[in-house]
Amino acid sequence: MEVHSGDYRARARRIIEETPEVREAVTAATRTFVEHRLEAFADLDEDALSHWAERVKSHALTHLADYLEEAEARLVERGAHVHWAESASDVHRILERIVRDNGVKKVVKAKSMLSEEVGLNPFLESCGVEVLETDLGEYIIQLFGEPPSHIVGPSIHRSLDDIRAIFHERLGTPRDASPERLAAAARELLRNAFLTAEMGISGGNFLVAETGSIALIENEGNIRLSTSVPRIHVALVGIEKVLPKWDDLSIFLQVTAKSATGQPVGCFVSIIQGPGGSAAGEPDGPEELHVVLVDNGRSRLLADPEVWEALRCVRCGACLNICPVYRQTGGHAYGYVYSGPIGAILAPGLVGLEETLPLPFASTHCGACKDVCPVRIPIPDLLHVWRKRAVERGLTSGVERSVLGLWASVVTRPALFGLAEKVAGLIPDQVVRHLPMLREWSAGRELPRATGRTFRELWDEGIE
Ligand code: SF4
Repeated sequence: MEVHSGDYRARARRIIEETPEVREAVTAATRTFVEHRLEAFADLDEDALSHWAERVKSHALTHLADYLEEAEARLVERGAHVHWAESASDVHRILERIVRDNGVKKVVKAKSMLSEEVGLNPFLESCGVEVLETDLGEYIIQLFGEPPSHIVGPSIHRSLDDIRAIFHERLGTPRDASPERLAAAARELLRNAFLTAEMGISGGNFLVAETGSIALIENEGNIRLSTSVPRIHVALVGIEKVLPKWDDLSIFLQVTAKSATGQPVGCFVSIIQGPGGSAAGEPDGPEELHVVLVDNGRSRLLADPEVWEALRCVRCGACLNICPVYRQTGGHAYGYVYSGPIGAILAPGLVGLEETLPLPFASTHCGACKDVCPVRIPIPDLLHVWRKRAVERGLTSGVERSVLGLWASVVTRPALFGLAEKVAGLIPDQVVRHLPMLREWSAGRELPRATGRTFRELWDEGIE
């Protein structure tokens, strides 16, 4: 996927000013997710679960090479083809060969953020392959020609009226069709596609090293159909998705579903262990299973001692749902496949800080994301690391650097600071508000009033 994060501020402003309905739709949907998540964890020791999940994921990541080799060996024993892709272009090359060798003309795709990350759909279409998204939310944004706006709910920025209009135009449903009627129209079209596609593509929520099992969570049944009906199944799995043991899986399946949508567990969980008729004792399923293990910047991130913890992410979306900044715009403002707090720390690591600024600054640093993360990723700390690096590399604006430099020299000199507090009280608010360095900052915020008295004076007066 092309990265457009440099436009974040302009995109965010445009979405807020020109499409206020996006903010309404995203806020309503994320609030619902948050409420359901709270209910799901109400009777559980969430703290203990998240500490356990953190430990397991951190252990897997710090022994990643061993677990990946173990998973590969188990998969190969069961007849799967395992491919290693260092970059997006490696993924393209591998898929092109599978498509060409098998004369594939039509692909049904299950929801996969990794496939969005590596720009798979446009690539396959450039090879003359028809690609159909089978997750309803993904299908909707495919009709609109848009990238996903949320990790779990790709079309949450779209209203029912938007969806009615596009279905009417593309599928001929009535303009006032009910949600059930819309879903039925999509289902009818997709059912035929499952039966006629030569290849299904999925992601993978988890890859269990001990058994070589790929686990997939969903609610619609489209993943099961995409991975079992077509003759060939290709699973794209990020290398960070490894879990060491089979016994780890059931807890991660529950924690992920509860954090994502508040469900006890996804409506469907598919465990893929090999092609049909393989040693796994599964008579049904595709004739060929290809598992593509994708790096695409993850090894580099893992080697970075200050930010590697971002790789624990299980893509539940809980940090997006709680984030007051994400709620204003939805995901499209971020210009990258992963948005919200996790996007703001993953994007600089996977793509590069220069290419993805100002995403680490797209946060109020309130810390709510850290509180809801089921694998205890210290998101605010990681945002701070990227911000610090941006300053150290001279990537922030010259005005900002000058103002902060001036601020630092004043606040580290008590006498000067006291004098500055007195002088600030004499300057009218309207003047301060329009100073070049404060104009943008103060446009949407209340500017605190300087009292004209020093902190020590206020303290002596007993004002807290
Ligand atoms: S960072 Fe944590 S809360 Fe956010 S998507 Fe990843 S696992 Fe979920």
